[in-house]
Amino acid sequence: MATAYFSDSAFLRHDMGDDHPESPGRLRAIEARLKSCGLAGEVDWCQSPEATREQLQRAHPGSYLDQLELMAPRQGRIMADPDTLMTPFTLQAARMAAGAGIEAVNQVLCNQATSAFCAVRPPGHHAEHNKTMGFCFYNNIAVAALHALTFHNLQRVAIVDFDVHQGNGTVDIFRNDPRVMICSSFQHPFYPHSPIHGLREGIINTPLEAYSRGRDFRRQVENAWLHRLQDFKPQLILISAGFDADKRDPMAQLELDARDFRWITEMITDVARMHCRGRVVSMLEGGYHLGALADGVEAHLGELVQISQPAARGFTF
Ligand SMILES: [Zn+2]
Repeated sequence: MATAYFSDSAFLRHDMGDDHPESPGRLRAIEARLKSCGLAGEVDWCQSPEATREQLQRAHPGSYLDQLELMAPRQGRIMADPDTLMTPFTLQAARMAAGAGIEAVNQVLCNQATSAFCAVRPPGHHAEHNKTMGFCFYNNIAVAALHALTFHNLQRVAIVDFDVHQGNGTVDIFRNDPRVMICSSFQHPFYPHSPIHGLREGIINTPLEAYSRGRDFRRQVENAWLHRLQDFKPQLILISAGFDADKRDPMAQLELDARDFRWITEMITDVARMHCRGRVVSMLEGGYHLGALADGVEAHLGELVQISQPAARGFTF
Protein backbone atom coordinates (compact mmCIF):
# COMPACT_ATOMS: atom_id res chain seq x y z
CA MET A 1 0.00 0.00 0.00
CA ALA A 2 1.12 3.50 -0.78
CA THR A 3 0.24 6.99 0.35
CA ALA A 4 -2.80 8.37 -1.46
CA TYR A 5 -2.42 11.89 -2.86
CA PHE A 6 -5.45 14.02 -3.68
CA SER A 7 -5.43 17.13 -5.82
CA ASP A 8 -7.37 18.40 -8.82
CA SER A 9 -7.32 21.18 -11.40
CA ALA A 10 -10.72 22.31 -10.03
CA PHE A 11 -8.91 23.63 -6.96
CA LEU A 12 -7.00 26.05 -9.21
CA ARG A 13 -10.21 27.61 -10.56
CA HIS A 14 -11.06 29.05 -7.13
CA ASP A 15 -9.10 32.30 -7.55
CA MET A 16 -9.63 35.17 -5.11
CA GLY A 17 -7.47 37.60 -7.12
CA ASP A 18 -3.83 38.39 -7.77
CA ASP A 19 -3.34 40.11 -4.41
CA HIS A 20 -4.83 37.33 -2.33
CA PRO A 21 -2.31 35.13 -0.49
CA GLU A 22 -4.50 32.00 -0.67
CA SER A 23 -3.76 31.56 -4.37
CA PRO A 24 -3.87 28.76 -6.94
CA GLY A 25 -0.09 29.21 -7.19
CA ARG A 26 0.21 27.44 -3.84
CA LEU A 27 -0.88 24.12 -5.33
CA ARG A 28 1.24 24.67 -8.42
CA ALA A 29 4.30 25.21 -6.20
CA ILE A 30 3.57 21.99 -4.29
CA GLU A 31 3.06 19.93 -7.43
CA ALA A 32 6.22 21.28 -9.07
CA ARG A 33 8.23 20.39 -5.96
CA LEU A 34 6.82 16.88 -5.69
CA LYS A 35 7.78 16.26 -9.30
CA SER A 36 11.30 17.66 -8.90
CA CYS A 37 12.04 15.82 -5.66
CA GLY A 38 10.63 12.49 -6.84
CA LEU A 39 7.84 12.14 -4.29
CA ALA A 40 5.25 12.51 -7.08
CA GLY A 41 6.27 9.06 -8.27
CA GLU A 42 5.94 7.46 -4.84
CA VAL A 43 2.29 8.31 -4.14
CA ASP A 44 -1.00 7.12 -5.64
CA TRP A 45 -2.67 10.06 -7.38
CA CYS A 46 -6.40 9.99 -6.64
CA GLN A 47 -9.53 11.75 -7.87
CA SER A 48 -11.35 14.08 -5.46
CA PRO A 49 -15.12 13.48 -5.52
CA GLU A 50 -17.50 16.25 -4.48
CA ALA A 51 -18.78 15.90 -0.91
CA THR A 52 -22.53 15.39 -0.87
CA ARG A 53 -24.93 17.66 0.99
CA GLU A 54 -25.53 14.88 3.53
CA GLN A 55 -21.79 14.62 4.20
CA LEU A 56 -21.38 18.41 4.57
CA GLN A 57 -24.44 18.57 6.81
CA ARG A 58 -22.70 16.46 9.43
CA ALA A 59 -20.55 19.56 10.14
CA HIS A 60 -22.71 22.45 8.96
CA PRO A 61 -26.46 23.18 9.22
CA GLY A 62 -28.54 23.00 6.03
CA SER A 63 -29.36 26.71 6.38
CA TYR A 64 -25.63 27.56 6.13
CA LEU A 65 -25.22 25.39 3.03
CA ASP A 66 -28.26 27.11 1.48
CA GLN A 67 -26.88 30.53 2.32
CA LEU A 68 -23.58 29.78 0.55
CA GLU A 69 -25.43 28.48 -2.53
CA LEU A 70 -27.53 31.65 -2.63
CA MET A 71 -24.46 33.90 -2.26
CA ALA A 72 -22.43 32.22 -5.01
CA PRO A 73 -21.94 34.66 -7.89
CA ARG A 74 -22.63 33.77 -11.53
CA GLN A 75 -19.64 35.88 -12.53
CA GLY A 76 -16.94 37.97 -10.89
CA ARG A 77 -16.20 37.76 -7.17
CA ILE A 78 -18.15 38.55 -4.04
CA MET A 79 -16.97 38.78 -0.45
CA ALA A 80 -18.27 36.05 1.86
CA ASP A 81 -16.44 37.80 4.72
CA PRO A 82 -13.65 40.40 4.79
CA ASP A 83 -10.95 37.77 4.05
CA THR A 84 -12.83 35.27 1.93
CA LEU A 85 -14.04 35.73 -1.65
CA MET A 86 -16.34 33.57 -3.75
CA THR A 87 -16.21 33.06 -7.49
CA PRO A 88 -18.49 30.93 -9.69
CA PHE A 89 -16.01 28.06 -9.21
CA THR A 90 -15.55 28.34 -5.45
CA LEU A 91 -18.24 26.04 -4.12
CA GLN A 92 -17.38 23.21 -6.48
CA ALA A 93 -13.75 23.44 -5.36
CA ALA A 94 -14.89 23.57 -1.72
CA ARG A 95 -17.11 20.49 -2.17
CA MET A 96 -14.19 18.66 -3.78
CA ALA A 97 -11.80 19.73 -1.01
CA ALA A 98 -14.16 18.24 1.57
CA GLY A 99 -14.78 15.23 -0.69
CA ALA A 100 -11.05 14.55 -0.96
CA GLY A 101 -10.91 14.19 2.83
CA ILE A 102 -13.86 11.81 2.79
CA GLU A 103 -12.36 9.64 0.07
CA ALA A 104 -8.98 9.71 1.84
CA VAL A 105 -10.67 8.46 5.03
CA ASN A 106 -12.41 5.72 3.02
CA GLN A 107 -9.14 4.57 1.46
CA VAL A 108 -7.18 4.58 4.72
CA LEU A 109 -9.91 2.84 6.74
CA CYS A 110 -10.57 0.26 4.01
CA ASN A 111 -6.87 -0.58 3.72
CA GLN A 112 -6.50 0.80 0.20
CA ALA A 113 -3.87 3.31 1.37
CA THR A 114 -1.70 3.51 4.45
CA SER A 115 -1.87 7.28 4.69
CA ALA A 116 -3.16 10.15 2.57
CA PHE A 117 -2.37 13.78 1.83
CA CYS A 118 -5.00 16.10 0.37
CA ALA A 119 -3.44 19.06 -1.46
CA VAL A 120 -6.70 20.97 -1.57
CA ARG A 121 -8.05 24.49 -1.47
CA PRO A 122 -10.02 26.31 -0.22
CA PRO A 123 -8.73 25.31 3.21
CA GLY A 124 -11.16 24.51 6.01
CA HIS A 125 -10.06 24.82 9.63
CA HIS A 126 -11.40 28.36 10.21
CA ALA A 127 -14.91 27.52 8.92
CA GLU A 128 -17.19 27.29 11.94
CA HIS A 129 -20.48 25.44 12.22
CA ASN A 130 -22.34 28.25 10.40
CA LYS A 131 -19.72 30.83 9.44
CA THR A 132 -17.13 31.31 6.69
CA MET A 133 -13.86 32.66 8.00
CA GLY A 134 -10.19 33.02 7.08
CA PHE A 135 -10.39 31.79 3.44
CA CYS A 136 -12.52 28.77 4.52
CA PHE A 137 -16.07 27.70 3.51
CA TYR A 138 -16.56 24.08 4.57
CA ASN A 139 -14.49 22.65 7.40
CA ASN A 140 -12.74 19.90 5.44
CA ILE A 141 -11.08 18.21 8.40
CA ALA A 142 -14.31 18.21 10.44
CA VAL A 143 -16.27 16.74 7.54
CA ALA A 144 -13.60 14.01 7.24
CA ALA A 145 -13.68 13.29 10.99
CA LEU A 146 -17.46 13.11 11.06
CA HIS A 147 -17.43 10.73 8.10
CA ALA A 148 -15.03 8.45 9.99
CA LEU A 149 -17.23 8.60 13.11
CA THR A 150 -20.62 8.34 11.41
CA PHE A 151 -20.10 6.22 8.32
CA HIS A 152 -17.23 4.04 9.55
CA ASN A 153 -18.46 3.95 13.17
CA LEU A 154 -15.16 4.92 14.76
CA GLN A 155 -15.28 6.00 18.38
CA ARG A 156 -12.09 8.05 18.71
CA VAL A 157 -10.53 10.36 16.12
CA ALA A 158 -7.65 12.74 16.86
CA ILE A 159 -7.16 15.96 14.89
CA VAL A 160 -3.70 17.51 15.04
CA ASP A 161 -3.48 21.08 13.71
CA PHE A 162 -0.04 22.71 13.36
CA ASP A 163 -1.11 25.65 11.18
CA VAL A 164 0.13 28.97 12.63
CA HIS A 165 -3.48 30.01 13.21
CA GLN A 166 -5.71 28.30 15.75
CA GLY A 167 -8.23 25.91 14.17
CA ASN A 168 -11.19 27.80 15.61
CA GLY A 169 -13.70 26.25 13.23
CA THR A 170 -12.71 22.71 14.11
CA VAL A 171 -12.90 23.55 17.82
CA ASP A 172 -16.33 25.14 17.28
CA ILE A 173 -17.71 22.06 15.52
CA PHE A 174 -16.35 19.57 18.10
CA ARG A 175 -16.83 21.79 21.15
CA ASN A 176 -19.13 19.21 22.79
CA ASP A 177 -18.03 16.00 21.04
CA PRO A 178 -15.67 13.91 23.19
CA ARG A 179 -15.15 11.41 20.36
CA VAL A 180 -12.70 13.92 18.88
CA MET A 181 -9.43 15.01 20.50
CA ILE A 182 -8.02 18.24 19.04
CA CYS A 183 -4.38 19.23 19.48
CA SER A 184 -3.74 22.68 18.02
CA SER A 185 -0.53 24.74 18.10
CA PHE A 186 -0.58 28.35 16.95
CA GLN A 187 0.86 31.81 17.37
CA HIS A 188 -0.87 33.65 20.21
CA PRO A 189 -2.21 36.27 20.59
CA PHE A 190 -3.07 36.24 16.89
CA TYR A 191 -5.84 35.68 14.35
CA PRO A 192 -8.53 34.27 14.76
CA HIS A 193 -8.56 35.65 18.33
CA SER A 194 -10.99 32.95 19.47
CA PRO A 195 -11.18 31.87 23.13
CA ILE A 196 -8.58 29.21 23.87
CA HIS A 197 -9.32 28.59 27.55
CA GLY A 198 -12.31 27.09 29.31
CA LEU A 199 -12.89 24.44 26.65
CA ARG A 200 -13.62 20.78 27.35
CA GLU A 201 -10.97 18.23 28.18
CA GLY A 202 -9.72 16.82 24.90
CA ILE A 203 -9.29 20.21 23.21
CA ILE A 204 -5.62 20.95 23.72
CA ASN A 205 -4.61 24.44 22.68
CA THR A 206 -0.87 25.08 22.60
CA PRO A 207 -0.26 28.83 22.17
CA LEU A 208 3.20 29.98 21.07
CA GLU A 209 4.53 33.50 21.42
CA ALA A 210 5.55 35.40 18.29
CA TYR A 211 9.12 34.57 17.25
CA SER A 212 9.03 31.15 18.93
CA ARG A 213 11.57 28.85 17.32
CA GLY A 214 11.50 25.21 16.42
CA ARG A 215 12.93 24.08 19.74
CA ASP A 216 10.15 25.95 21.64
CA PHE A 217 7.51 24.43 19.39
CA ARG A 218 8.91 20.91 19.82
CA ARG A 219 9.23 21.18 23.59
CA GLN A 220 5.72 22.51 24.11
CA VAL A 221 4.08 20.12 21.67
CA GLU A 222 5.89 17.12 23.10
CA ASN A 223 4.91 18.04 26.65
CA ALA A 224 1.31 18.95 25.88
CA TRP A 225 0.29 16.45 23.21
CA LEU A 226 2.24 13.23 23.27
CA HIS A 227 0.93 11.55 26.43
CA ARG A 228 -2.59 12.85 25.78
CA LEU A 229 -2.62 11.32 22.32
CA GLN A 230 -1.23 8.06 23.72
CA ASP A 231 -3.91 7.93 26.42
CA PHE A 232 -6.68 8.73 23.93
CA LYS A 233 -5.69 5.79 21.68
CA PRO A 234 -7.04 7.27 18.44
CA GLN A 235 -8.40 4.92 15.80
CA LEU A 236 -7.50 7.46 13.11
CA ILE A 237 -5.39 10.63 13.14
CA LEU A 238 -6.28 13.55 10.92
CA ILE A 239 -3.88 16.44 10.36
CA SER A 240 -4.71 20.05 9.56
CA ALA A 241 -1.39 20.67 7.87
CA GLY A 242 -0.64 24.37 7.61
CA PHE A 243 2.86 25.52 6.74
CA ASP A 244 2.46 29.20 7.66
CA ALA A 245 4.43 28.75 10.91
CA ASP A 246 7.55 28.73 8.69
CA LYS A 247 9.85 31.67 9.44
CA ARG A 248 9.61 32.84 5.82
CA ASP A 249 5.82 33.05 5.83
CA PRO A 250 4.61 36.64 5.32
CA MET A 251 1.42 36.24 7.37
CA ALA A 252 2.80 35.25 10.78
CA GLN A 253 5.81 35.48 13.06
CA LEU A 254 6.76 31.97 14.15
CA GLU A 255 10.20 30.72 13.17
CA LEU A 256 9.76 27.09 12.22
CA ASP A 257 11.22 25.43 9.16
CA ALA A 258 10.84 22.22 7.19
CA ARG A 259 12.79 20.23 9.81
CA ASP A 260 10.10 21.04 12.36
CA PHE A 261 7.34 19.97 9.98
CA ARG A 262 9.19 16.70 9.43
CA TRP A 263 9.56 16.27 13.21
CA ILE A 264 5.87 16.86 14.01
CA THR A 265 4.86 14.48 11.22
CA GLU A 266 7.19 11.82 12.59
CA MET A 267 5.73 12.27 16.07
CA ILE A 268 2.19 11.91 14.75
CA THR A 269 2.96 8.90 12.58
CA ASP A 270 4.69 7.17 15.51
CA VAL A 271 1.50 7.54 17.58
CA ALA A 272 -0.52 6.33 14.59
CA ARG A 273 1.65 3.25 14.22
CA MET A 274 1.18 2.37 17.88
CA HIS A 275 -2.58 2.87 18.03
CA CYS A 276 -4.14 2.77 14.57
CA ARG A 277 -1.91 0.86 12.18
CA GLY A 278 -0.42 4.09 10.88
CA ARG A 279 -3.74 5.47 9.66
CA VAL A 280 -3.16 9.17 8.99
CA VAL A 281 -5.06 11.53 6.70
CA SER A 282 -3.54 14.98 6.27
CA MET A 283 -5.24 17.98 4.67
CA LEU A 284 -3.58 21.18 3.53
CA GLU A 285 -4.55 24.34 5.39
CA GLY A 286 -2.33 27.48 5.22
CA GLY A 287 1.16 28.31 3.99
CA TYR A 288 1.69 31.46 1.93
CA HIS A 289 5.40 31.65 1.10
CA LEU A 290 5.58 29.39 -1.93
CA GLY A 291 9.13 28.15 -1.31
CA ALA A 292 8.45 27.49 2.37
CA LEU A 293 5.19 25.76 1.48
CA ALA A 294 6.94 23.48 -1.01
CA ASP A 295 9.70 22.69 1.51
CA GLY A 296 7.14 21.98 4.24
CA VAL A 297 4.97 19.69 2.12
CA GLU A 298 8.04 17.82 0.84
CA ALA A 299 9.16 17.17 4.44
CA HIS A 300 5.64 16.28 5.64
CA LEU A 301 4.72 14.03 2.74
CA GLY A 302 8.15 12.41 2.86
CA GLU A 303 7.37 11.26 6.42
CA LEU A 304 3.85 10.11 5.50
CA VAL A 305 5.28 8.00 2.69
CA GLN A 306 7.52 6.34 5.28
CA ILE A 307 4.40 4.81 6.89
CA SER A 308 4.10 2.71 3.77
CA GLN A 309 7.55 1.28 4.47
CA PRO A 310 7.38 0.18 8.13
CA ALA A 311 10.58 -1.81 7.94
CA ALA A 312 12.52 1.33 7.10
CA ARG A 313 12.19 2.84 10.55
CA GLY A 314 11.63 1.66 14.09
CA PHE A 315 9.54 3.16 16.86
CA THR A 316 11.09 6.11 18.63
CA PHE A 317 9.40 5.36 21.93
ZN1 LIG B 1 -2.98 29.56 8.84
